Amino acid sequence: MVIRATVFGENVHENKNPIVRSIYPDGMHETIAAALREDAGIVSSTVTLQEPEHGLTAEKLAETDVLLWWGHVAHGEVSDAVVERVVERVWQGMGLIILHSGHFSKIFKRLTGTPCALKWREAGERERLWVINRNHPIAAGLPECIELENEEMYGEPFSVPEPMETVFVSWFQGGEVFRSGLTYQRGSGRMFYFRPGHETYPTYYDENVRKVLRNAVKWAYNPGPAWTAITDAPNVPVETALEPIEERGPRLHQAGEAGYR
Ligand code: ZN
Repeated sequence: MVIRATVFGENVHENKNPIVRSIYPDGMHETIAAALREDAGIVSSTVTLQEPEHGLTAEKLAETDVLLWWGHVAHGEVSDAVVERVVERVWQGMGLIILHSGHFSKIFKRLTGTPCALKWREAGERERLWVINRNHPIAAGLPECIELENEEMYGEPFSVPEPMETVFVSWFQGGEVFRSGLTYQRGSGRMFYFRPGHETYPTYYDENVRKVLRNAVKWAYNPGPAWTAITDAPNVPVETALEPIEERGPRLHQAGEAGYR
């Protein structure tokens, strides 16, 4: 079974900033997709903000098992209709991996329901991501910690819901700490937030970071059929109850009527 991963790249810094372009000449999304292709069990493709519907049509999402999201400067330009389409696919079982500054993406804020705010500093600090959940599949094959010589600092408090699992905790040279690898379940979809990936550093060329991305895709993959009825809210008439029951008391609704939303 081959997992179909789609990488969404905002693709703005790469086109405007010569430093980012020199590190990622084909765009950050292409570097991320190439990291995934190093695993024969993953096929990856890319879409960008600039494409119609950001490349995330219903058809594209239907054939995406895991979506990875890198966005930063243009969160506000992401169409609300596309956000709702992605959210619904996550509920149905599509995996979602939110990278770095994607913490403020509409999609992550919608799926967490929280501000997703944090402290930050752009000073090329050393970051150590400590693997605190040694046997988690996302940490498979990693050393005790991942060391990145230059990264942007993200500091706690990170205003997100308490995660299902915490895989990484980061230490930064300036003294702050941050929960850098968080898992969530939303509907039947698995979601992973992974912190590193600031655009002015070559983070997505780091072998351990690339391994985390591949591990995360495999963890987030749901082999079952899409749960397309997850947003349905059917009314069950008295006559179709599994055991015979007698209707009692007053009621507002007709049998089988659609509920209010
Ligand atoms: Zn950044």
